[in-house]
Amino acid sequence: MQELERLKQWIQESDNIVFFGGAGVSTESGIPDFRSVDGLYNQQYEYPPETIISHSFYMRNPEEFYRFYKNKMLFPEAKPNAAHLALAKLEAQGKLRAVITQNIDGLHQAAGSREVLELHGSVHRNYCTRCGKFYGLDDILAMDGVPHCSCGGKIKPDVVLYEEGLDQKTIQRSVDYIRQADILIVGGTSLTVYPAAGLIDYYNGKKLVLINRSVTPMDSRANLVICGKIGEVFAQIV
Ligand code: NAD
Repeated sequence: MQELERLKQWIQESDNIVFFGGAGVSTESGIPDFRSVDGLYNQQYEYPPETIISHSFYMRNPEEFYRFYKNKMLFPEAKPNAAHLALAKLEAQGKLRAVITQNIDGLHQAAGSREVLELHGSVHRNYCTRCGKFYGLDDILAMDGVPHCSCGGKIKPDVVLYEEGLDQKTIQRSVDYIRQADILIVGGTSLTVYPAAGLIDYYNGKKLVLINRSVTPMDSRANLVICGKIGEVFAQIV
């Protein structure tokens, strides 16, 4: 396939690649995304995921929030797939500067990536909203219902809920990486969740690559569009 060969060549020639990804990067690890046919939005719940994982819903009904969150958003058994592993390899080779992700699953770090900017936080970090004590994912899974701290405070995942703002430092660092990038590879994201999707506006180069198994609103802006499963694509080029 001509597109794969072109991407392979661009990667060979560069030492300043930045990757920006979304839920589609982890579907091949068995974690559903939000918008594909078999994704979370197409399942049957009393409320849509966007409502349940919003700040106001969490405040109003933490029991229901945690029921959904634990059942549908935590995948402690998931393992990195070929896309996560390829990105970690490119970083180790000195070619890739950073992974910027909308995912909260921690699979890039599990694959060995070091510079991972998590725009929407991580399920692996949880804090007591009263005393600030830290809890890991296993702690949350071990507690029934709404997890509580030893001090009695409620524990909240360090995940950006709908209606909440993103961490400004993470955004600024992402903008800096993207501005300076030689190649920006965008993969497995519907590019519909803002402000994250707006980050690609900061890219100044001429090697914007989109890898997705469906069309995105940004396809016409890309210099190279590869339609396919991202793990399979990366397995062929790295
Ligand atoms: P999205 O669900 O809106 O879009 C996913 C996109 O990836 C779709 O365009 C889909 O066609 C594509 N895709 C799915 N599997 C793919 C594959 N194997 N190869 C290539 N493309 C594939 O996801 P989004 O754009 O990341 O935005 C939704 C929000 O959902 C984000 O804020 C994210 O934090 C959150 N989310 C995260 C996880 C996770 O951490 N793994 C999972 C679900 C949702």
